Amino acid sequence: MYVSKGGGLKIYLTERQEKIVDIVKKYGPITGEHIAKKLNLTRAILRPDLSILTRSGILEARPRVGYFYNGNSSQINLKNKIHKIRVKDIKSLPVVIEEDTTIYNAAVKMFTEDVGTLFVVDKKGNLQGVVSRKDLLKVTLGNSKDVQQLPVSVVMTRMPNIITTTNDETIYMAAKKIVDHEVDALPVVRTFIDNQGIEHFEVVGRVTKTNLAKILVELGEGK
Ligand code: ADP
Repeated sequence: MYVSKGGGLKIYLTERQEKIVDIVKKYGPITGEHIAKKLNLTRAILRPDLSILTRSGILEARPRVGYFYNGNSSQINLKNKIHKIRVKDIKSLPVVIEEDTTIYNAAVKMFTEDVGTLFVVDKKGNLQGVVSRKDLLKVTLGNSKDVQQLPVSVVMTRMPNIITTTNDETIYMAAKKIVDHEVDALPVVRTFIDNQGIEHFEVVGRVTKTNLAKILVELGEGK
C-alpha cells in the first residue's frame, strides 16, 4: 500500500506494516508488546517496522501509553490552515469601473483585464455595485442597440445587496460566502464611516474562485 504524505512523497508499506497500522487504528493506543502479541511475533522483530511507521508520521508513539494512528492529523492540519489563511494573503487587485461607464465599455474592460467580474465604484472608490459576465450578456441579448449608450448602473447588482469580504476574514469564510451566495467573486472592502455617520465600503481587492482554486493547489502540494 502507498501512503501519501505531505508534499506528495509516497511511502510504500509492507504487508506487515499495513497489519500493524490496522491494529493500531482499531485498538490504539496500544503498546508495541500488544501489537506483537496480536501478530504472534516478538517485539524485537517489530521494532524496525514500528520505527519506520513512527518516523514517517503514520503512527505516533507516546511513552508509557503506546502507539496512536496519526493518519487523520494531516486532515486536521489542512483544516487549521484553511482557517488561518486570510483574504489579504490570496486576494488580487480589484478591477473597477465607474457607474456611468457604458455597458459596451464594461464588456471591453472585462476582456482587456481578463476578469469575469467588475466592481462599480463612485468617484471616491467606494463600492456601488457588481457587474458579472451574465449581467452583460443578458442586456446584450435583449437590447443590443443600447449597449453603447446605457450605463452599467442599469444592469449591475447594487449595494446593499453586494456580498463582501475583508482583508482579515479567513479564506474559509470567503469561500463559504462564494458557495452560499452562488457568486464568482467578492470585493474585498475596508469599511469606514464618514463625518455624516454614513458607512462606506472602499474596494481594496478581489477574491475569486480562481484565487481559491490556486490556494487549494498550493495546499495540495503541501505548501
Ligand atoms: P456570472 O453572472 O458570470 O455567472 P456570478 O455568478 O458571479 O457571475 O453572478 C451572478 C449574479 O450575482 C449577477 O447578477 C451578479 O451581478 C451578482 N453578483 C456577482 N458577485 C456578487 C457579489 N459579490 N455580491 C452580490 N451579487 C453578486
